[in-house]
Order: sequence, then C-alpha cells, then structure tokens
Amino acid sequence: MKLSLQLQDPQDARAWEFSYLNQFDRAHWVTRCSNSMDTLGGRTCKMRQCPACSLRASRDLAHRIQTVARRMEHRLSLIISLRSTGLWDLRETLRSLRSFVTVVHRWKGLAGLTAVGAIEPKLTAAKRAWVPHAHVVVDAKALVVGPLADRYHDLTNGLGTLMLAAPRPDLFESIPMIATYFSKPESWCPFPGSMHPQMFGIFADAVKGVQRLVEWNGGRRGRRKRRHSEVEAHAA
Ligand SMILES: [Zn+2]
Repeated sequence: MKLSLQLQDPQDARAWEFSYLNQFDRAHWVTRCSNSMDTLGGRTCKMRQCPACSLRASRDLAHRIQTVARRMEHRLSLIISLRSTGLWDLRETLRSLRSFVTVVHRWKGLAGLTAVGAIEPKLTAAKRAWVPHAHVVVDAKALVVGPLADRYHDLTNGLGTLMLAAPRPDLFESIPMIATYFSKPESWCPFPGSMHPQMFGIFADAVKGVQRLVEWNGGRRGRRKRRHSEVEAHAA
C-alpha cells in the first residue's frame, strides 16, 4: 500500500507519513527543512528520516569511511549481522549489534587490525524481522573467518552471522560508490511511500538517535582517538 505516492516532493511525502502517525511536530520540521546543501542560509531539521538531512549525513559518513579506507594497505569486506526476534525490537537489536561488534574486534584474528564501516538496518524478505548488519572494511591481506564465524554464531545464540563479503576491487575509487555501499541513505531513511506508514513508524522510533559509524584503531597508528560519537550524535 503506497499511500503517499501522489505527493511528488519527498519532504512533503515524509511529512504526510508523520502526520498519519500523529507526529505533527516532525511533520512540520521536515516540511520546513531546507533542501539546500548550503546550510548557511537554510535551517535543517537533522532528523534521521528527513530525506534531505539523511542524504547529507550519509555523505559525511561516506567521506569519513573513504578517508580511513584510503589509508589501508589491503581491504577485506566483512559483514557482521544480527537478526531481531520480531518487528518491535529493532532498537535493542541495533544496540546489541553495536556491542557485539565491539567485542568481536578484540578477538584473535581481528585484534590490532584497522577497520571502518557502517551499520545498516534492513527488513527481512518476509518482513517479519530486522537484520541490521555492519559492513566493515578491514585492513588485512587475508582472514581465516571460519572460527570467528562459529564463535560469533555462539555468542549471538545463533541470531548472528559473520562472513566475508565478495571482493569489490573498484569499491574505494569514488565517494558515490562508498556512499552507496556503506552509508545507504535509503536504508536509514526509507523513501517516502516505500513502507506502510505503520511500519515506518516502528522503524522511525527504533532508529532514533542510533549511531551507525563503526570504526576501530582509527585508521592511524599510534593515535587512538575515538570518533564514534561524532556522526549524527544529535540526530533526532
Ligand atoms: Zn531535514
């Protein structure tokens, strides 16, 4: 059911969805949000589900990921996922995934390696649960993933998967490709009309304020400056 397709402007269509959910403040803010990339004159709402703000945030994220990835000698793409138990526990699942990733990066085989990436929430094909997952680029020539995958499977009671993704040698050549692969604005900000408004409501409440950058060892030797919190820390 694509109820808001008749509204051409994505900001207006999103505002309609917020109105449907009786979230009139958010509807108002997203309508008033400046679409301009030049933020000097315009006011931005900084809401996660604002199409304009989501795109801007994902570009910042893509840039950060590319900056770190460019400094790497080798690049392997790792996916670390965690399945939710239903539709209502996306927020908890995202939190758990983030802490599992923090645990996993200290494991033998990954400890000491530099990595950067982002977490992406996704609905299962049957739309009965969520499978948020971290796409992470690791600076390693080779990884023995088998034991790590088994250990992660056990750690998550069988709800989690850790695997190597297919190599994409051209992946780090351009910001748009990085943006597409890692920061996927459409998964954090589903296009207006692409989800039933009620499903969108569940999603919007669950991802409120959740960080999505994944980074360890910072991409530079000798300096371990935490930068987790800088991305969208104030996103509504
Ligand atoms: Zn906005």
